[in-house]
Amino acid sequence: TIGMLALDQAGNLSGACTTSGLAYKMHGRVGDSPIIGAGLYIDNEIGAACATGLGEAVIKVVGSHVVVEMMRQGKSPEEACKIAVERIMKKIKDVKDLQVGFIALNKNGEYGGYSIHKGFDFALYTGSENKMVDAKNIVS
Ligand code: ASP
Repeated sequence: TIGMLALDQAGNLSGACTTSGLAYKMHGRVGDSPIIGAGLYIDNEIGAACATGLGEAVIKVVGSHVVVEMMRQGKSPEEACKIAVERIMKKIKDVKDLQVGFIALNKNGEYGGYSIHKGFDFALYTGSENKMVDAKNIVS
């Protein structure tokens, strides 16, 4: 998945995501990316989130919506992403071959990411900075 979240100078949030789906996917499979709330969710009052990884796992918890709702309750973007990852891990016990990651951005421009396994990085551009950020993870 390529997921993008943005906050413009007027303070408006936006986002997009696109995917080729999974390798060897079943014909007709719909992943999380085209499902609002699963692969992508934005509330312009609160924040924005998007997901990558196994879409079936993200759909089960409506992951990006969870991230935004956690930010609504006061969690930082990183904490909110962690909670969504943990919710998936509560439902799916064997995560040996399961990777899911979320990134999030709030109305104040704070951002974060979290994944099940390490190796999930995201690109950050702030106008003055352009860099890769290592997302934190649960299983190292
Ligand atoms: N989330 C996508 C899907 O399940 C896969 C990806 O990360 O590109 O379709």
